[in-house]
Amino acid sequence: MYHKPTTKTLMENQIRHHLVLIPPPFHGHLTPMLQLASILHSKGFSITIAHTYFNSPNPSNYPNFNFLPYFDGLSNTQITSKNFIDITSTLNTKCVSPLKETLVHYIAKLANEKHEKIACIIYDGLLHFIDSVAKELKIPSIVFRTTSATNFLTYHACAQLQSKGYLPLQDSKSCDLVPELDLLRFKDLPIFNLPNPDDFLQNSAKTLSITPFGVIFNTVDSLEDSSLNQLQQLYKVNIFPIGPLHMIADDSNNSQSILRENHNCISWLNNKARKSVLYVSLGSIASWEEKELTEVACGLANSKQNFLWVIRPETVKDVSAWLQSLSEDVKVGIAERGCVVKWAPQGEVLAHEAVGGFWSHCGWNSTLESLCEGVPIICQPSFGDQRVNTRLLSHVWKVGLEWCNVILRDEIERVVRRLMVNQEGEEMRQRASELKHEIRLAVNGSSCDALDGLVKCILSVNV
Ligand code: UDP
Repeated sequence: MYHKPTTKTLMENQIRHHLVLIPPPFHGHLTPMLQLASILHSKGFSITIAHTYFNSPNPSNYPNFNFLPYFDGLSNTQITSKNFIDITSTLNTKCVSPLKETLVHYIAKLANEKHEKIACIIYDGLLHFIDSVAKELKIPSIVFRTTSATNFLTYHACAQLQSKGYLPLQDSKSCDLVPELDLLRFKDLPIFNLPNPDDFLQNSAKTLSITPFGVIFNTVDSLEDSSLNQLQQLYKVNIFPIGPLHMIADDSNNSQSILRENHNCISWLNNKARKSVLYVSLGSIASWEEKELTEVACGLANSKQNFLWVIRPETVKDVSAWLQSLSEDVKVGIAERGCVVKWAPQGEVLAHEAVGGFWSHCGWNSTLESLCEGVPIICQPSFGDQRVNTRLLSHVWKVGLEWCNVILRDEIERVVRRLMVNQEGEEMRQRASELKHEIRLAVNGSSCDALDGLVKCILSVNV
C-alpha cells in the first residue's frame, strides 16, 4: 500500500529558514520546481519563488509562498516565438544585474520585517548565471536539475568527446555505443544533429559546474542507480535523487498547470473500457507540422483504437476547422473513437484505468508521470533529453517502443497496434506495472532519505 511520506518537519521548534527557489519560465521546469517548493515548505522552510514576468506562476494558487518577480529582459518577439534556447540564453546574459538587485532589496526587507535571512538559493541548472549571483551575495546555493541523471551524464560525455576529437559526430557511427555511457548510442546524445553543437557545448560546460553543496534530481534511485553512482564519483558532491516530485508533493488540490486543463476528457475516459485508450501528447513545446498532423489523424483513425489527443492551440490555429478538413472516413474514426483537447489534466489522465498507453515526446516529466502510473510509452523524441529518455524507456526499463522516425499513417497505425493490441504491448504494460510499484516504494524509501539529507545539508550550512 502506498502512503505519502510524513510531513513531519526536521525543524520543529526552531526558527524558519528562508529558501529562494528560481525556476526558468518553461512549463516542464516550473512545475517540478513548484513541487519541490511545496515539499520543502512542508519540511518547515519559508519559501520565495523568484520568477520572470514571462510565464509567471499564479501566486493565488500558492498562498504559502512569497513571489518575487525580476526583470527578464525578454523581447515580445522572443516570447511569441517561445524559442527555448534563445530565451534561456537571454536570461543567462541579461538577468545577472536585475536578479542581484532584486535579491539585495529582498534580503534587506526580510531582515527588517521578519528578522530572517536567506538560508539557500535553489536554482534550475538551465539558469547557470545564478551561481555567480549567489556567490556575490554570499548565499549558499544548490542546483536543481529537472532532467534525468543519465541526461546530465551525457553533457559530461559530450565534453569528453569534444576533447578526444570525436566531434562533429559522424552519421555512420550514429548507432555505435558511446564510450563510458554503456547504454547510449551517439544518436541518443542531445548534441546529435544539432545545427550549432559549439553553442550547446559552451552552454553545457557552464551547466556542468555543480555547486559544492550538491545537486537535486527529480528522479528515483532505483531507476538510475548506475548514472547516479557515476555522477557521484565524477563530482564528489551530495547528490539528492528526490523523485518523483509530483508524487511526494502534498498539493493534490493545487494545479500547477499554466494552461487551462480540459476536464471533459475525464468524463469521456469514464465511458471507455479498461486499458483501451491511447493518450497522445507531445508536452508543452514539441509539436507536429500541419502535414504530419494529418498523417497522425489518419494513423490513429486507421488503428481502430480509442485515443485522447492533445493538440495545443499553437500547433494549429483552428482545430475544429482543421478536423472538418479531414477525409470523411477519418472524421468518422475520430468521432467514434477519439477525443481531441487543447490541454489535458495529464496526471489524472495517466492515472485513469481506461488509459493503456501513451504516445509521448518523452520529456522527463511525462516520462516520470507515465512510469508512476504503469503506462507504457510509444516514444517519439524530438530534441534535448528526449532521446536519452527514450533509450532508457525502451532499452533499460523496457516499457517503451522506440519510434521509427517516420510520421506516416501506415507506420503510425502499426506502432499503435503494437502497443495497444499485440502481446508485445501487453508485456510492456506488465513490466510498467512492476516499475510503478518499485517507484512508489522509493517515495517512502530512497527519495524520502534523500530529502532528509537535503534538509540536513541546508541546515548544516546555516548553523
Ligand atoms: N502536460 C499537461 N497537459 C497536457 C500536456 C502536458 O498537464 O495536455 C504536462 C505534463 O503533465 C508534464 C508537462 O506538461 O508535467 C510536460 O513536461 P515534459 O517534461 O514532459 O515536457 P516539456 O513540455 O518540458 O517538453
